[in-house]
Amino acid sequence: MGEAQGTYYMVTYFANDTLVTQNQIDSLLRDFDMSASIWVKNSIITRINNSDPSVIPDKHFTDIFKLAQRVSKVSDGAFDITVGPLVNAWGFGFKNKMNMNDHIVDSLLPLVDYEAVKLVNGMIIKENPDIQIDYNAIAQGYSVDLAGGLLEKYGIENYLVDIGGEVFARGSKPDGSSWVVGIEKPSEDINSGRQLNATIKISDKAVATSGSYRKYYEVDGVRYSHTIDPKTGYPVRHSLLSATVMADSAAVADAYATAFMVMGIEKAKQFIDKNPDIEAYFIYSDTSGNLKVFKTKNLENLIEEQ
Ligand code: ADP
Ligand code: MG
Repeated sequence: MGEAQGTYYMVTYFANDTLVTQNQIDSLLRDFDMSASIWVKNSIITRINNSDPSVIPDKHFTDIFKLAQRVSKVSDGAFDITVGPLVNAWGFGFKNKMNMNDHIVDSLLPLVDYEAVKLVNGMIIKENPDIQIDYNAIAQGYSVDLAGGLLEKYGIENYLVDIGGEVFARGSKPDGSSWVVGIEKPSEDINSGRQLNATIKISDKAVATSGSYRKYYEVDGVRYSHTIDPKTGYPVRHSLLSATVMADSAAVADAYATAFMVMGIEKAKQFIDKNPDIEAYFIYSDTSGNLKVFKTKNLENLIEEQ
């Protein structure tokens, strides 16, 4: 157990020996932050955001970039790593919140366009130097895959990696049973304790959840979620309260969980219909405010509702 990206991480594995130490995982995650964390002053992402001409993206940076761009394309721009300026302006980045109004949103929107950033011969080219890249919706998932990769390198076949609630599980527990993780129930109040809504069995898959109910702030009774709709420039406000995604990698699951929060329940369901390789579990409120759930067929035997 340790800390990474301002959240906890937990790695559990079963093997006859201590094959991988916490130090190794810590240093792997630290290296990763030096690449992809906007909170680290000299990280590659920070230097790219500052248009530092001498920055050379590393493998972590370019891997995430390619993946993010693919999800952006497939999700028709619902997922967009260039939302950085808006995330900051709305007060979810590292800068102080501006007093937001339509005018500020309109002035920042032209900077949000994933097609205006390209990877050319290993270098990141921004069409406008003010474009700011934000990996927060995918980096946590990616770091889960990284930690998993380290364990596999040491031949560990049964493990669970959990970084801030994004997980990947391989194999099973020593008694042969599946790994099981909880899916939180969206709560009314940011301060209320975490409640379990359901559990999900995982084997050789990643699971990630995005929710509008934990990271938000409220002004005059209106909730502002930290997920921004790249098309409008405003925080999303939907009946969809949380999106849990199961996929082969945690980075992919993480990115789609965010994309679905942007799409909202109807569009997300349509997307799922056309993309059967993605499994999803949505918690949303119906028109009378009751909690409802939707899950893809393959999850029916894996999810147990409480
Ligand atoms: P969580 O799992 O905590 O809900 P997410 O994985 O949904 O977090 O990531 C949310 C973060 O992603 C935001 O704080 C912001 O930095 C960034 N972000 C917000 N909107 C988008 C978007 N439409 N596409 C990509 N990244 C986004
Ligand atoms: Mg995400």
